[in-house]
Amino acid sequence: MKAYRFLDWLQPPELSDVPVPEPGPGEVLIRVGGAGACHSDLHIFEYPPGKRPWVPPFTIGHENAGWVEELGTGVTGVSVGDAVAVYGPWGCGRCRACRESKENYCELMATQNALGGGLGRDGGMAEYMLVPSARLLVPLGDLHPSEAAPLTDAALTPYHAIKRSLHRLHPGTTAVVIGVGGLGHMAVQILRALSGAQIVAVDLDPAKLALAAESGADSTVTSGQSAADEVRELTRGLGAELVLDFVGATSTIALAGACVRAEGDVTIVGAAGGEITWRFGALPPEVSLSNTFWGSGTDLIDVLELARQGRIRAHIERFPLDRVDEAYDRLRAGTIQGRAVIVPNAA
Ligand code: NAD
Ligand code: ZN
Ligand code: ZN
Repeated sequence: MKAYRFLDWLQPPELSDVPVPEPGPGEVLIRVGGAGACHSDLHIFEYPPGKRPWVPPFTIGHENAGWVEELGTGVTGVSVGDAVAVYGPWGCGRCRACRESKENYCELMATQNALGGGLGRDGGMAEYMLVPSARLLVPLGDLHPSEAAPLTDAALTPYHAIKRSLHRLHPGTTAVVIGVGGLGHMAVQILRALSGAQIVAVDLDPAKLALAAESGADSTVTSGQSAADEVRELTRGLGAELVLDFVGATSTIALAGACVRAEGDVTIVGAAGGEITWRFGALPPEVSLSNTFWGSGTDLIDVLELARQGRIRAHIERFPLDRVDEAYDRLRAGTIQGRAVIVPNAA
């Protein structure tokens, strides 16, 4: 089968021929129906050797959904043909964090060699992928895998980040979303679905701001020098209760700090590697700074339910597997609206 392989550090991935994997005991083979192209993959393509404890080669793609193709011995609870989302962070399944469904914060992850499919192990940018346990599969119901794939990260990650601040977002409050790409356009929809807060979206690109408005943002602001003043104007000079930064550059983190109000939350999700100087008085009093990583298995169940209810929907552009390079080139150039989804198998 064809698979988009990360062959070595600092080398462009390549579409290669590899054998279709065979499920061992407890494993499940998935026929991939959708694999989202995440900006984190672009970061991975630029990682210096040793930045992660992964041993290439492996197949890219950590945002996956498809159909159960074959069961390894002993697998119960799923059947061949089931449409499923693949929960991406593959924890040990047994530690306290994993038993709380927070495999994204598995206690053993730090010492393990890999994080999941597409992140050190073979991911979904291939015709088939192996999932190590049926525990990691969530039924899709009537959602199509190509629409569901981005929900496993581009929606799951903002859902988790928003949920931890939801107690602050009563009607009359404001949430700011910086960066309205794959994750950000889902964040706007999730805020709309879960809270009564005013939603302000910030991006550099007018097309992304148009998608933000379409996704439910009340106001859009062009990123830059005057952005913080504009957010203050929209919040009676007080600032926002929650600022989510889906870029994570030094300039956007500074903007987040300049937009947040006293006792508000700044949550950095973007991995651009920017920094903030933190000292007494650098931010309004009692601001909490955090960064979040992905989401839990139960968060994914919630996200899929919101999608089935029609309250969130990923804006996607589909690419066949043989055009995967083009999808990443467009993502790098900033010309993907929402999420690019690679579709190795159509039905
Ligand atoms: P994307 O490329 O789809 O979207 C990024 C958006 O940010 C684009 O709309 C772009 O125009 C905008 N942008 C860039 N610079 C900006 C600036 N200075 N001000 C305002 N907007 C700006 O990317 P994505 O797939 O949504 O990922 C976003 C970030 O989140 C990446 O860094 C990715 O690695 C990271 N990420 C983190 C997690 C996590 O668990 N923490 C999970 C997935 C992705
Ligand atoms: Zn990702
Ligand atoms: Zn664990």
